[in-house]
Parts: sequence; C-alpha cells; structure tokens
Amino acid sequence: VEDSVADDMARFEDSFVGINKRYRLINRIGEGTFSTVYKAEDLEYNDYQNRWDIDERDESKWASPKTLRKQSRRAHYVAIKKIYVTSSPIRIFNELELLHDLRDSPFVCPLITAFRHMDQVVAVLPYFQHRDFREYYRDMRIPEMRLYFHSLFTALRAVHQERILHRDIKPTNFLYNPEQARGVLVDFGLAEREGTDWHQCACTLATEERRYRIAHSVYAQTQQSGHQPSAYPKNDTRSSRRANRAGTRGFRAPEVLLKCTQQNTSIDMWSAGVILLTLLTRRFPFFHSADDIDALLEITTIFGRKKMKDTAILHGQVFETNIPSYSEGGHSLEKIILWCTGRTKDDKGNKPELQDDEKQAVQFLYGLLEVDPVKRMTADEAINHPFLAKVYE
Ligand code: ADP
Ligand code: MG
Repeated sequence: VEDSVADDMARFEDSFVGINKRYRLINRIGEGTFSTVYKAEDLEYNDYQNRWDIDERDESKWASPKTLRKQSRRAHYVAIKKIYVTSSPIRIFNELELLHDLRDSPFVCPLITAFRHMDQVVAVLPYFQHRDFREYYRDMRIPEMRLYFHSLFTALRAVHQERILHRDIKPTNFLYNPEQARGVLVDFGLAEREGTDWHQCACTLATEERRYRIAHSVYAQTQQSGHQPSAYPKNDTRSSRRANRAGTRGFRAPEVLLKCTQQNTSIDMWSAGVILLTLLTRRFPFFHSADDIDALLEITTIFGRKKMKDTAILHGQVFETNIPSYSEGGHSLEKIILWCTGRTKDDKGNKPELQDDEKQAVQFLYGLLEVDPVKRMTADEAINHPFLAKVYE
C-alpha cells in the first residue's frame, strides 16, 4: 500500500471512531466524485456456512476442531464506501434506501449494513473480486460479451422491474469477473425511482440561488440603472429548461442530453449499448465529449443529422448544426466497427465483412442504441434476444 493511501486510511480510521474494532482496512480500491471505497476484512464475520462445505462422505477429510476454527476464521472481505460529506443527506438516504429495496435482486451488489459517525456515512458491501475493464476490453470475444451482457441485463431487469433507474451505467459501476463469467451492479448514488422529481427540486433550488446572486450583482444593478444598452430582454420571464442530467459523459442517452423531462429506465439501456459499442470497436472511451452539446455532436457523427433532428422534435427541442462534415444519414454501426478494428478492403478490393456472430451482436446493438427511447430495447427484451437467449443452454 502506497504511503499516501496508508495515510488516508489512517485518517479515516481516526475520524470514524470504532470502525477499526469491526473492520481491518486493507487498501483503497476506488476514488470517485462522490465517494472513496476501501477493501477491508470483517473481523466479526462468522462463516458458519462454510464450516460444512467439506465432503461429508470422506471421513479422512472430516475437520478436526482445530481446522474448524481455522475455517471459521477464514477472512471475509467487504467494500466500505465512504460517502463524501458534501453529498446531501437526501442523496445518501436515497442510495441506501434503493440498495435496501434491491437486496434480493440478482447481480446487484447487496448492502450489508451502513454506519454513521457525525456527518460521515459509510455503506458496507460484500467485496466482489473483479477485473478492471481496461484490462480486458481490447480482447473480449463475442461469446464472452454474451456472458457479460447476460449478467448486466439480468441485474438491470430486476432494477427496472422495481421501476428504478440506475442512471450511471458504465464499466466502473458494473464489476465483472471474467473467470466466473459474472458481474455485479454497484453505485446507486444517482439512481432514482421512475417519476420522482426530488432531484429536479434540488436543481431548481440551485438555479434559484444562482438567479438571486446574479440579480443582485453589481453588473445587474448597473444594467438596471440604464448604464449600458442590453441586447437581452430585461425581464425574461421564460423559464429555462431543467431536467435531470446526472450521469457520466459519453454514456448519456440522447433524451438526457436533450433535457427531456420524462426520462425512464430506457436511459440505462442506451448506456449499456455504449459499453457494447466500446467492446465491439475496442475503443475506450468511445465517446469523449467535454459537454452535452459535444456529446450530441458525437452521436450525430454516427446517426446523421436527420435522425438527430427527428429525435430533438420528439423531446420538443430543435437540433440545428452548420458543421458541414456531418452527413444526413450517418454511418452504419457495421462500418464503424470495421473501421475501428482496422478491417479495410483486401488486396483484391473485396469489401471487409463482419463475422456472423459479430453481425448478431450489431443487430442487438441497434436495439440498444435506438435514439427513440420508446422504441429502444428493454432489459427483458434484451435477455430474450437471440444474442443472449441461448447463453445458458
Ligand atoms: P462512486 O459513487 O464513487 O463511483 P462506486 O460505488 O461506484 O462509488 O465505487 C467506486 C469503485 O469502488 C468501483 O468502481 C469499484 O472499483 C470499487 N467497488 C465498489 N464497490 C465494490 C465492491 N462491492 N467490491 C469490490 N469493489 C468495489
Ligand atoms: Mg461509480
């Protein structure tokens, strides 16, 4: 463990009184915008179940009291998520509550418990052994992709059945173990129930605060006393469009980028589609925009102007661009995958083609990267799609 990490862990142990009585911190395994995650050993865990997982018929292997004690003390690891104190209590409560509600959902990392010490809240989850996406995205084969997405969509189907949107589907929030061919969904920090608008309330609050500050600024006062001519209407009463835009750039669905106010679970399906596109093109990150406008333009590069204009209209927006390089009809996903994987015409001038299983993957991908959320594939449809249907047969 690096010195700086060791210092950080020591500081955490000091500030969170009593945590080291129950857990032994081992390492820091994640550091994000909203939390720091540590791997730890649960010192009070009693592994009764595993005492008996020896072959009962083989007397020679019957455990002596000594080995029983040893087995029962087999280390049990947890992930301790320290949620930053800057997160609002409503947000923290929301994450813990949703995790609690999803405790029986397959492939969703369950919440073991949570603690609070003063203003600090920690969530305790079972530690899940997984590999970093960057280690395997370049060489994942189609049969492995089927297993990956079967696991992911089984999790999402359960989450969506509860009418919960995850809102932040991306590789770092789906911990995958290629050896076991299974993964678990983590990080419900941005998740919400379909139809809630507490987040919008929070946004409104922030916007109102900002408005107040702007309205009372020196600039505004000079404006009002008529010092400078203004090209803008002085009392613009039109309210600006507000919608939940939380998520990670590059994984946001078009309707999120277009600030659609009625977003539902289909936004997670788009994000999952971006993961599949990443795996098929072997480019990570595939989309890399700095803001929402750039993100829309990146999507336009693929799907073309026409589709983006139609999509904008669906959400009561207008999409216009004067950038000449965007084609009207866009490019097929097949072509993009061939380009990205360096497959060009052969010596005889024959056009390259995708393999059969890749073609099936692309057909599946079209269902996920559908710009119209109403037509987009659902998690249940995904599991029954030929790409995944026969995975466990
Ligand atoms: P954040 O809100 O900060 O993104 P996450 O819940 O996504 O927090 O956790 C951050 C990282 O910590 C994950 O990407 C993963 O690497 C690691 N992590 C989180 N939960 C677990 C777990 N149960 N087992 C193993 N690693 C985990
Ligand atoms: Mg995360």
